[in-house]
Amino acid sequence: MGAGNQFPGASFHGTVHFGQTLSPNHQERRQGTRQEDVSPEAWTSKPQPATTSDYGRPSTPSRGPISQGQPSRPASRDDFEIAIICALPLEVDAVEALFDRHWDDDDDSPPYDKAAGDPNAYSTGVIGRHNVVLAYMPNMGKVAAGSVASYCRMSFRGIRLALVVGICGAVPFRPDDGSEIVLGDVIVSSGVVQFDFGRQLPERFVRKDTLLDVLGRQNTEIRALLAKLGTRRSRKTMQDKMAAHLRHLQAEADLVARYPGAAQDKLFEAAYRHLLDDASCDACGCDGQLVRRSRLEQSSDDTSCPQPVVHFGLMGSSDKVMKSGVERDAIAQQEGVIAFEMEGAGVWDVFPCVVIKGACDYADSHKNKKWQRYAAATAAACMKAFLSHWIPLQPNRAY
Ligand SMILES: [Zn+2]
Repeated sequence: MGAGNQFPGASFHGTVHFGQTLSPNHQERRQGTRQEDVSPEAWTSKPQPATTSDYGRPSTPSRGPISQGQPSRPASRDDFEIAIICALPLEVDAVEALFDRHWDDDDDSPPYDKAAGDPNAYSTGVIGRHNVVLAYMPNMGKVAAGSVASYCRMSFRGIRLALVVGICGAVPFRPDDGSEIVLGDVIVSSGVVQFDFGRQLPERFVRKDTLLDVLGRQNTEIRALLAKLGTRRSRKTMQDKMAAHLRHLQAEADLVARYPGAAQDKLFEAAYRHLLDDASCDACGCDGQLVRRSRLEQSSDDTSCPQPVVHFGLMGSSDKVMKSGVERDAIAQQEGVIAFEMEGAGVWDVFPCVVIKGACDYADSHKNKKWQRYAAATAAACMKAFLSHWIPLQPNRAY
């Protein structure tokens, strides 16, 4: 990451690369996605009859407070511009809970279905001012993600932005500036590094160039938005929106999206290994030295939920689960990544893509599932806040 590319004076930690040209595929897709058949009436800034203006009020069939200018039902699958891809059911649960409308529940209109031969399962609906399609993955990993994304592109030919939303393992201290990432914080990818892509030599592993080089960087539109969101004011606005969406998710008891408590956010020293597989740290008696986290110490009590922070930066993506504090720190130092996950690399090759993932563990041997639902909720909340800054391409908007 070249220091010259950093945003000066801003809290944006990702790298902004200028002068990048779109890959032929991306250019083709973008040029082919303008919708010419949407009438001015199709998009309205008037409140929908059943739309609420506050999370606390009844919300049928629409949810959410920030739905200024909800789009009308698309005429066809080609009118969807946003795809969301999730690997785990608990990630889907959190994302779906933030839909403002569900087109699949609309019995008066024909279903969107999908292209012949597409095995994916989808939900369609509205998030904020966008029509979105949510694609479910049958299993985790890059191959499954790539396959789901490819079929999704076949059925929904107007997709301009794919968001991979869910949970990840975080690097506890950013390698670039040392700032803390705590559980529940959200990482928004400024790039994806496929760190296990290379050759294993007898003595060492030689990684090929990063995905940034192999597959191309995010397109200009995405990079411009990330640069904007990295500025102090925009990031604060985004985090405030995220906090509002998170409160909505936490009000839904069956999502179990409550903050597990600062005392449960344990970071062991990188070299301290978990004692027993298939048992929790409590059950097997992990008692290694804990690393001090100043943000957690600032919490007024154990149950008060520190406001999740959004971190922009490189996401490490691989087919293996990262379960080693030592390896985590080595790769973070070497590659500049701030989190680890398994799907981004698969989608990156297919769609213009941003990975938005909540930190549910520290990618070490102590990883457990305690934080998954909360982290899935913060990621979904961040996704909705992010989308509020994304401008739909379709013309003749009433806003
Ligand atoms: Zn442990």
